[in-house]
Amino acid sequence: MNQRIQSYVIGIDIGGTKTECCVFELSNESTPDTFFVPHKRFSSIKKVCGMRIPTDEAAGYDTFLEGVSNLVVSLLNDSSIHSDSLLGIGIGMPGTICPKTLVMLNGNTKMFVGNAFGSDLISALPFSCDFGVYNDANCFAIAEAYSGAGHLHSKHTSTPELELSSVGVILGTGVGGGIVLGGKCLTGPHGSAGEIGHTSLVTGGVDCYCGRKGCAESYLSGTGIQRIFKERYGYSKESVNIFSGAIAGDVDCLNVITQYREDLARFFANLVNILDVDFIVCGGGVSNQDIIYEGLEEMVGSLSFVDKKSFKIYKHQISDSAGVMGAAMQVCNQ
Ligand SMILES: [Zn+2]
Repeated sequence: MNQRIQSYVIGIDIGGTKTECCVFELSNESTPDTFFVPHKRFSSIKKVCGMRIPTDEAAGYDTFLEGVSNLVVSLLNDSSIHSDSLLGIGIGMPGTICPKTLVMLNGNTKMFVGNAFGSDLISALPFSCDFGVYNDANCFAIAEAYSGAGHLHSKHTSTPELELSSVGVILGTGVGGGIVLGGKCLTGPHGSAGEIGHTSLVTGGVDCYCGRKGCAESYLSGTGIQRIFKERYGYSKESVNIFSGAIAGDVDCLNVITQYREDLARFFANLVNILDVDFIVCGGGVSNQDIIYEGLEEMVGSLSFVDKKSFKIYKHQISDSAGVMGAAMQVCNQ
């Protein structure tokens, strides 16, 4: 029997509202549509095909599991890829994953909490396959470290991507993070390294759903910006409109965004002081607002104990597919 070369990998990025599943091909080619991936046999990864489905919590866990299983099978069939050619399936999930049991320990999408989705998916598939389950912010951080901001920083500093250290920070509906030290993602013995959104930013601040007060997420997320605006001015505005208002010179919006940037600078300075990273890369909806980066590096530098020139702050360099790519990249190396 001919042994097929395992040169394909599947990435699945499960979000609170949508789930993306992509098939990637591994090779040693370098073309404009390939991304660097460290692997003992391959050096690049390229998307072959992919699809998004809703993460419908109301329909229930079993229905979602069946939907993802069917999606994996149909993507392989549509692209004529045999399951024996799969190196593995990497799954990014919105929560903390126990490294021993792969059970999701906590997270906002409650149907996954207490379940080992990765193991359940592999059991539901009509073939066996290696797999890995990772925190979604860690997947973003890895993809950016290898092929996005890491690649850019590597070119500027002539330091190989795998020797760089970074933090990937998601500034979206919530705030999450992934820490990459010398090309390796730090997960921690309990899977919760990089849960920076629930570090304290404001003493005695607002209540967070995690049970603490003043968490960074409550101030640096899109929902946090909306809450701060409403509390200060008594009426509601979408966070994107607060940003566009600030750019247009609206004083109320500008006040909120100026405060936001100061809070973000203190938050980033803490990360730089603790981890001494080469760069911080920002993802998530709020990170698309260029106004947050104005003067940010200087502010972080003035608040940091480390050398001001020792770090950079980047906007994400990979499209919103960094999560699914990072899941695929991680399963290549486990
Ligand atoms: Zn919290």
